[in-house]
Amino acid sequence: MSLIHTTSQELFQRAQQSIPGGVNSPVRAFRAVGGKPLFMKSAKGAYLYDEDGNQYLDLINSWGPMILGHAHEEIEKAVRDALPGSLSFGAPTRREVEMAELIISMVPSVEKVRMVNSGTEATMSAIRVARGYTGRDKMIKFEGCYHGHGDSFLIAAGSGAITLGVPDSPGVTKGVANDTLTAPYNDLEAVQTLIDANPAQIAAIILEPVVGNMGLVPPAEGFLQGLRDLCTKEGIVLIFDEVMTGFRLAKGGAQELYGVTPDMTTLGKIIGGGMPVGAYGGKVDIMNSVAPAGPVYQAGTLSGNPIAMSAGMAALSYLNEHPELYAQLQQITDKLVNGTKQNMQELGLNYTINQVGSMYSVFFTEEPVTDFASAKTSDLELFGRYFHQMLQRGIYLAPSQFETLFVSSAITDDLAEAYLAANREALQALQ
Ligand code: PLP
Repeated sequence: MSLIHTTSQELFQRAQQSIPGGVNSPVRAFRAVGGKPLFMKSAKGAYLYDEDGNQYLDLINSWGPMILGHAHEEIEKAVRDALPGSLSFGAPTRREVEMAELIISMVPSVEKVRMVNSGTEATMSAIRVARGYTGRDKMIKFEGCYHGHGDSFLIAAGSGAITLGVPDSPGVTKGVANDTLTAPYNDLEAVQTLIDANPAQIAAIILEPVVGNMGLVPPAEGFLQGLRDLCTKEGIVLIFDEVMTGFRLAKGGAQELYGVTPDMTTLGKIIGGGMPVGAYGGKVDIMNSVAPAGPVYQAGTLSGNPIAMSAGMAALSYLNEHPELYAQLQQITDKLVNGTKQNMQELGLNYTINQVGSMYSVFFTEEPVTDFASAKTSDLELFGRYFHQMLQRGIYLAPSQFETLFVSSAITDDLAEAYLAANREALQALQ
């Protein structure tokens, strides 16, 4: 059994002549798992279809946004309805007000919100605002967390950066890097040590409240609350980067799930329903420092774009009106995770699986994975072989050990069964 990928391979050959590495975002190139990327042509529900007509059950879902599956009727209709005469105005629109009100009603920490065009823009802007608001320069981030490709965040960065072996990217100046302090994830003591060594200099602590970018790593008991307490005591702005977890782990994201409210939140992915959208928001007094309400400058020609807002509003409204969806996602993901555990047990394997809600990762290590160091004990060569075994069986996983899987509501019980049958064969083929 071997799928034909001739057209994808031809396109990749061509793409390499005109696009760096042949892709517009590094992890798409399959560097970490070997082989050549597949070029996708269409998608519907739980499935992706490539240029050669192969069908794949999708466990990436565009790296998170497609929580309702592909080509969801209500989102596509919202875009079609919005299209005539509204590609872009560069002026305020009713839709933006409605969108802001909806986000504020769903995300506990957000009292005011500014729309941008990507998760990267959201985190870059949030950090500037935290610096402007506190009058301090430094920030703390955690090893293996990824906050987009802004200069200050490409220090010990996870996701594609670690996949390509460049967690500290060339091109980031020493000056910028010096203002980014890093601590191991789940290590409150290390954070306290950094704060003590830099008194009244730290503007913000930014983190993924549940990490997706070193594979899925949950916060240890008390970690989020511990950070909340430290930030309150030291006058540091606590930023939850919920670009992945926002609207995914609960309507109000990880902050709702864990009951810890940050000062600022960054959002992306699901918020655009598949269109390029990001947002940052938080407490009124902090957000009122953003121009033109305040002096911290941040702007965007296409920010709040009408079509993007329509797609995002449709996605968020659907989630807001169907809270039962989160229990369904949990249940189907439990089935995938428990079935994988059972397959491994029957085959005498003991790899680590981490899961929170509809996000999970199988780490090819027997160690518990609680931070970047333990994630890196995974056998990457074995992961690569597993990835290709699954791909051959029509299952599209994230092409890197250091990424989470995202389950969509389009995955039914039957599809989960099919996934688990493929998973068993793939694990068996690794022996
Ligand atoms: N923050 C987190 C937690 C992310 O996972 C990502 C992207 O995966 C980003 C920020 C950057 O978002 P974007 O790729 O939309 O710029």
